[in-house]
Amino acid sequence: MREPALREELVRACKVLYAAKAAGDGLGGHLSARLDERQILIKPRPVSWWKLEPQDLILIDFAGARTDQPGQPSGVTEWPIHARIYAARPDVQCIFHAHPSASTMMAALNIQMEPLDQDCASLTDRLPVLDNGAVSISTPALGDEAARALGQMGAVLLKNHGCVVAGAGIAEVCVAACKLEKSAETMLRAASLAKLPLLSAETRSAILAARKGVESGSISQERWRMLQDYYLGRADA
Ligand SMILES: [Zn+2]
Repeated sequence: MREPALREELVRACKVLYAAKAAGDGLGGHLSARLDERQILIKPRPVSWWKLEPQDLILIDFAGARTDQPGQPSGVTEWPIHARIYAARPDVQCIFHAHPSASTMMAALNIQMEPLDQDCASLTDRLPVLDNGAVSISTPALGDEAARALGQMGAVLLKNHGCVVAGAGIAEVCVAACKLEKSAETMLRAASLAKLPLLSAETRSAILAARKGVESGSISQERWRMLQDYYLGRADA
């Protein structure tokens, strides 16, 4: 995708993530896309997720320095999450980091995702947790730690802090980020009603086996269009 189209798509993604509450209260976090081998297009911290315009997005290099306004601070203290995951994962083109309440609380309470519904099932056994003492990921070494914790997965929870979702494109990341927060809300609700774990090992295995191979890239694209339609009123999206 060329830069102008990428900026438009990232702005729509920020608005959907905010409207869907996947970006928490919108006071922290960022969404980025890999622009080329040298630059990352990223949402700057002080701009609203909802009122963001394509020209508000900034460009940084893999050392966190502005390339669109050299010498100016980016204001994105957790840029190493993005830079080091892109460096470790050539397949990743889009990264989301925020502090949404349900997934953050789920990790803080050591609640494991169980396949209670289809969304939860798609994240069960695929949601590592990085427990680094709730330190902000503001150095390359900490960024490497987050990249290692993510491994080849699509999301990692940062204990007492937030979450990171990474994927091959904006559609995949937005769909996964919305699903993560919804599934975490489901698990918190379930944990308030019954003792964990909720499912027997047999039931859990049977559900996961039945769901093998269900997710695909085309489903992400379809769901991304539906999310835009629902939250932005873009029937033509
Ligand atoms: Zn953070």
